[in-house]
Amino acid sequence: MKFFVNDTCVGCGLCANTCPQVFEMTDEGVAKAIDGDVDAAVETEAQEAMEGCPVAAIEEI
Ligand code: SF4
Repeated sequence: MKFFVNDTCVGCGLCANTCPQVFEMTDEGVAKAIDGDVDAAVETEAQEAMEGCPVAAIEEI
């Protein structure tokens, strides 16, 4: 399972708070997902972050 943050991110920070193992905020003030497959142990948290994004900027790829 991999995640991608598209350019509709408004930088609210929710995903990075919900699942910091997968999402981080960049210097540009938007979120970015780690490259590559997400560790199975954090998949549920990462999906919660995706579902919680207020602008649906997180995609599962
Ligand atoms: S939750 Fe959505 S809008 Fe907020 S920082 Fe993450 S990707 Fe961006």
